[in-house]
Amino acid sequence: MAEAPSPAKATDLQAELLKLQEVVKQMDPTEMQAAVAKLTDQVLRINGKLQASIATLGQTSSADGSTAAGTSNAAGALVGDAAAGAVASSSGTRAKIETMSAEVVDSNPYSRLMALQRMGIVKDYERIRTKTVAVVGVGGVGSVAAEMLTRCGVGRLLLYDYDKVELANMNRLFFRPEQCGMTKTDAAAQTLRHINPDVAIESFTMNITTVDGFDQFKASVTHPGSGKSSVDLILSCVDNYEARITINQVCLELQQTWMESGVSEDAVSGHIQTLIPGETACFQCVPPLVVASGIDERTLKREGVCAASLPTTMGIVAGMLVQNTLKYLLHFGTVSRYLGYNSLKDFFPTMEIKPNTACSNGRCLDAQQAHQAHINSPEALAAAAAAAAAADAEANAAAVHEENDWGIEVVADDAAAAAGSGVGEAQADEAAAAEPLPEGLQFSLPQAGVDAQMLQQEAVRPTEASLDELTSMLSSLNK
Ligand SMILES: [Zn+2]
Repeated sequence: MAEAPSPAKATDLQAELLKLQEVVKQMDPTEMQAAVAKLTDQVLRINGKLQASIATLGQTSSADGSTAAGTSNAAGALVGDAAAGAVASSSGTRAKIETMSAEVVDSNPYSRLMALQRMGIVKDYERIRTKTVAVVGVGGVGSVAAEMLTRCGVGRLLLYDYDKVELANMNRLFFRPEQCGMTKTDAAAQTLRHINPDVAIESFTMNITTVDGFDQFKASVTHPGSGKSSVDLILSCVDNYEARITINQVCLELQQTWMESGVSEDAVSGHIQTLIPGETACFQCVPPLVVASGIDERTLKREGVCAASLPTTMGIVAGMLVQNTLKYLLHFGTVSRYLGYNSLKDFFPTMEIKPNTACSNGRCLDAQQAHQAHINSPEALAAAAAAAAAADAEANAAAVHEENDWGIEVVADDAAAAAGSGVGEAQADEAAAAEPLPEGLQFSLPQAGVDAQMLQQEAVRPTEASLDELTSMLSSLNK
């Protein structure tokens, strides 16, 4: 549509230009300034509108994360991180770290974990990098446990589940809505690798309760050469009896210690349990309620009836489980054999469950015999005696400090026993009685009137009854 340039046109244009120059010469400078100010004002207003439109556009685009504005924002954030000295690749995942450092700098992901050594809690924290943990069941408890282990820098993490992420899982921690439809193992591996690339994560999308599943599961935790276990600990975070029996069997066959976890169907209580073949009860030594009362667990799950779950209870049980795991792997504190949690009363019962010499699992009986033989061996007896002597020596060394600034007195165990049991409690009761409880609170146990004689009367006597007899006595009481 543009006209072709011609000499005639050029002459016309030149004439036009000269006329304009004439006009400009005659213009009033103040009038000019006013016109410029008006134009500037218009330009500013247009610019404001333009900025607002860009901002609205940016918000819509970052929601779907696909437009140029969203991408440039992400790039800007990355540049900022790099400038601050963080080690990040283009995907936002940091580079692997060769050795754990205790150096206190903002960019060290392990400084606060390594501080456990400085605080005298753990002797050698970095040993965690040599440990392998298998997490069976990546649901409300397993996924959170896996994240905790990843953040703690465990060496290898094996994840097992056959389920997919659903919107119905969003009341729990860890999984995100955009992961719906992915297998739980793949979704978990994706998140965990991003959080800590130092952890070697292997995911197994499978059901361990099938015949093939059992073999595959066992093979994945067995050293191919020696036929012995290739993991340091197996965590059971499953929600059904068959899967627990499967883990129990594999662990008995491999002489592998494992930890069980569970949350009640009403979502308000849970437990963790450590199972050491031969040393503690196995999962079949003490039958759970559904088996003792002869009910098939599958008939308990009714169609359309949904068990309750809370992120709080699941998070607490996962925390209890991984805390016990860290104590077990890094040798600090006391590893709980059984720790329960009742959220309604904030009650945390603990107990020891001895193996049942009449266990229905032959592997368990073999393990029990092996354990008895081991603890009665001359080497084990000598080691136990040495440990007791060392503990005695330490206790005597500690008793040297008789005087202290706080007036704390050390009372020998013998003296306390001679004065009669329950002295401490009686004193505590007196102190408690002196200070009335706030309104609405009361002791659930009697404060006064409990003496050694009464405790003696109420004590549970040893019984010759078998477990089956006790079970039938219990069920007749419950009728
Ligand atoms: Zn057993």
